[in-house]
Amino acid sequence: MPADIHVFRCLQDNIGVLVHDPATGACAAIDAPEEAAVVRALEERGWQLSHILVTHRHADHVQGIAGLKARYGCRVVAPKKSASEVPGADQSAGEGDRVVVGDLSAEVWDTPGHCRDHIAYWFGAEKALFAGDTIFTLGCGRVMESSMDEMWHSLERFAGLPDDTRVYSGHDYVLSNAKFALAADPENEAVQRRAAEAERAAKEGRFLVPSTIGEEKATNPFLRAGEPALARSVDKAGAPANEVFAALREWKNRF
Ligand SMILES: [Zn+2]
Repeated sequence: MPADIHVFRCLQDNIGVLVHDPATGACAAIDAPEEAAVVRALEERGWQLSHILVTHRHADHVQGIAGLKARYGCRVVAPKKSASEVPGADQSAGEGDRVVVGDLSAEVWDTPGHCRDHIAYWFGAEKALFAGDTIFTLGCGRVMESSMDEMWHSLERFAGLPDDTRVYSGHDYVLSNAKFALAADPENEAVQRRAAEAERAAKEGRFLVPSTIGEEKATNPFLRAGEPALARSVDKAGAPANEVFAALREWKNRF
């Protein structure tokens, strides 16, 4: 039975996600940005929280854990590299490990870049990727603790997933990401359409999560660092994609 996946806003711009297995009733929250918002989402659907799958240790991803664990007694899966810094961690996971939520199962990928401990959860049977702050709709996370090359490698791995993979990211920054994508890839009609869609969604109080790998490959300037148009936009025609990626990321930091 396919998973029910519910997304909702937390805090200012974080995105909460619940992954519910209808066969067993198990339910995982991806990160725990805000206890009250997660509880509300669970109660609206009549789901019981059995797991919290943490993507990285930043406060806006773990601060709801203690309250949720006290309320539901759920099992907390934390990145291996930061398990000691994640409150209430019961289990740690890194590259190649499997995490099971009822009958659903995810493969864990190390995706350093935004921070050194970052992991992503790939539910292959669901074609659903929970990517935390590695990739965003039309953007990517800031590179803070790892190298630009490590971040590029993490994004390249995502780009190798099937085009119809649904991508759930940890924040909604789509309007500012759309502005940057228009500046970096101005001739790309798919970016223009997507930017207009992002504006419409924001006016209606929606956000563009999940996205798909196919949509991101067509419009996300960071995944498109291997395209000549993007290399030209940072004066790096002919340079390898990892160098173009680093230049794009540095430009976005100042944008
Ligand atoms: Zn973060």
